[in-house]
Amino acid sequence: MHADKLHEACGIFGVYAPGLEVANLAYYGLYSLQHRGQESAGIAVADGRQIALHKEMGLVAEVFTESRLSELKGRLAIGHVRYSTTGASHPINAQPLVFYCGKGMLGLAHNGNISNGFSLRRELLKDGAVFQTTTDSEVLINLISRLNGDYNLPHAIKQCMERAEGAYSLVLLTEDRIYAVRDPYGFRPLCLGRLGTGGWIVASESCALDAVGATFVRDVRPGEILEIAPDGPRTHAVVAAPRRAQCVFEYIYIARPDSTIDGFNVGQVRREMGRQLAREFCPQADIVVPVPDSGIAAARGYAEESGLIFEEGLMKNRYVGRTFIQPTQQIRDTGVRLKLNPVREVVVGKKVVVVDDSVVRGTTSCRIVKMLRDAGAKEINFCLSSPPIIRSCYYGIDTSNEAELIAAHKNIKEICRFIGADGLHYLTLDGLLRVFGDKARDFCVACFTGEYPVNVKDRGEGKFGLDCPSVLGAAG
Ligand code: SF4
Repeated sequence: MHADKLHEACGIFGVYAPGLEVANLAYYGLYSLQHRGQESAGIAVADGRQIALHKEMGLVAEVFTESRLSELKGRLAIGHVRYSTTGASHPINAQPLVFYCGKGMLGLAHNGNISNGFSLRRELLKDGAVFQTTTDSEVLINLISRLNGDYNLPHAIKQCMERAEGAYSLVLLTEDRIYAVRDPYGFRPLCLGRLGTGGWIVASESCALDAVGATFVRDVRPGEILEIAPDGPRTHAVVAAPRRAQCVFEYIYIARPDSTIDGFNVGQVRREMGRQLAREFCPQADIVVPVPDSGIAAARGYAEESGLIFEEGLMKNRYVGRTFIQPTQQIRDTGVRLKLNPVREVVVGKKVVVVDDSVVRGTTSCRIVKMLRDAGAKEINFCLSSPPIIRSCYYGIDTSNEAELIAAHKNIKEICRFIGADGLHYLTLDGLLRVFGDKARDFCVACFTGEYPVNVKDRGEGKFGLDCPSVLGAAG
């Protein structure tokens, strides 16, 4: 786990399966989406009459015990794992959100970022709305509830989609229905699967379908409002957008390699990015070493294309988790290497090509280069399977502030000097997009270009713009 990385986006899951323990299925689904968010987890279950909810801060396995799951009875469930991109990491912001509104109860789990969420919230507040959380997701449920005056939920969702801008994949839960919704640009993934027993699943990634034994049916289409009811899935509407803008970073780093999103297997895409990287830059070297785990697939591709030997020259401690106590400077100065450790016997005297997926601040790359040199590497070329990140993301990935992005302020020579490598190469944007063939135009690449596919109205507000310290303090 790297601090110097883009951060995940949240994972959502929905299941309609009469006769099965849906809370357990949601638990397994969320477990497989844990890489998308580790701050909080929640499951809401409906039994045809009401919705029961449990959510807490922590990992899925920490939040749910067997007895807790057994209390959540019903035939439909939605679930959420959170990494905060708007609103603090705090119990009040855990999802799913569940409210009494209009005709009955409504639950919502959201992956993404509403890029005009602050403006919409201000408008709603002026109109007398009250909010319990500091998330943009609550803006959506508030809007949907208000627009649902005639109790036509798909229509209300559609009207909400016409007002909300940016990235949102959603699962909504009523007492007897699930709705799966993807924003018109398709920023965040969402797919539909079928259980052998006749039930239906929706999930952020196809790896969650595999986890519960469901078969992949298809991706939810950008702009689609899909209802899952007793007679199966039914599309109510597909809201149009001028283009698609699927997040390319899902493939570079966020999603699991065993997931297939919008027709592309993530692991294979990473491998092809590595091959392309080798076509663009292949110095004289002895071995290719991945930065585990995110650089492994690209490094394999690089080795295949370049003919260099793939070697695991860096070992990762996979048990350094969320609660890890960061070492103080004094301890760091003693040279502790808790997360990554080089394999001296592999790298000593070698010219090494290191492959990683991306660089955010450059601090981790700097440490990696130093530890490989200390272990005796003769020459280090650092290769990245993405272009330089020069702009922040406003669509649900935490890229840090622009001020912290090293490539926003330094050119490649300067970054190379900063990290202490002998050479540095980023995959070109053309090279990255070539991997997707004739679908290249369907992707958002705004963090590499600054060309945002959806205008970002509330750019200045930041991740914590909706947070009120006194509210969070009181709730803590
Ligand atoms: S700006 Fe970057 S991280 Fe954000 S959606 Fe676009 S490609 Fe993904």
